[in-house]
Amino acid sequence: MNEFRLIRDYFTENSFSRKDVLIGVGDDAAITQVAQGQYLATTTDTLLEGVHFLKGTSPEAIAHKAIAVNLSDLAAMGAEPSWISLSLSLPAVDDEWLGAFSNKLKALTEYFSVQLIGGDTVKGQLSITITAQGFVPPESILTRSHAKPGDWIFVTGTLGDAAAGLALLKNELMIEDKAARDYLTDRHHYPTPRVLAGTTLRRIATSCIDISDGLLQDLEHIVSASEVGALLHLDKIPISKELGTHVNDLESALKLACTGGDDYELLFTVPEEHRVSMETAMSSYNLPVTCIGQVTGAQGKIDLRLNDSPFSFVSVSEKGYQHF
Ligand SMILES: [Mg+2]
Repeated sequence: MNEFRLIRDYFTENSFSRKDVLIGVGDDAAITQVAQGQYLATTTDTLLEGVHFLKGTSPEAIAHKAIAVNLSDLAAMGAEPSWISLSLSLPAVDDEWLGAFSNKLKALTEYFSVQLIGGDTVKGQLSITITAQGFVPPESILTRSHAKPGDWIFVTGTLGDAAAGLALLKNELMIEDKAARDYLTDRHHYPTPRVLAGTTLRRIATSCIDISDGLLQDLEHIVSASEVGALLHLDKIPISKELGTHVNDLESALKLACTGGDDYELLFTVPEEHRVSMETAMSSYNLPVTCIGQVTGAQGKIDLRLNDSPFSFVSVSEKGYQHF
């Protein structure tokens, strides 16, 4: 199959469409209209087989994750997603794989009202690069750099599930209960980009980041960009019942929650005066959020406490996922 038939068959006739796309897939470049008075947010992420997903991962899980990680980055900036471009490197044209991949892609783009506006395919090692774009009004952009001492530190959802799921898939963790195993591996394969939480935090949060590399490492990004410190209450970290019940020593569960990557929850800071309105807004959308600590003036320092006593992990070097 040539590249043109591949793009047409799987990605053109199978695409969600938006009114602000004048020309999508099929010409030399896409032409889109940026909503008036809005800024355009752009992010790119690559998923490489053997690095970001295990060999043998289903095409559905790969498509989901490729989109989710990008939309999660937009959410962390307070942006509402609009368009994606896809660059796909495939070892061979496999119709069954492409059918499953493109169907999942279509389902997700429809769910988030995002249009695929361009792409490229090459022959090579299995790898998926997605560029996602979205809109954010001026004055509403969320960044890592405006946390202030006294702000409360919050996270969405639960932490550590994706890392536990990966450990299960790699046989580094054993859990008897099948339902718990399925839940955790699903959290690894199908993370939820917190798009609605991100837009809800506009003008409320002073800083925001999505947790891709692990809570401690991503909190360090906020701490260093904002030139502040943080006090983290480990006993407050939200742990799912599946993780808490089946990883029975507390330190192992906390380690997964603090240093495991790939949760794609939002980590954000909120000043006292916005705390109640944030919690009310999040609960009206059924988005669970948990306060896990407070921003301090101790520049660059993250203090860990467990039940109000100082705590450090046995291996402090394992702060999170290192890319290089
Ligand atoms: Mg990010």
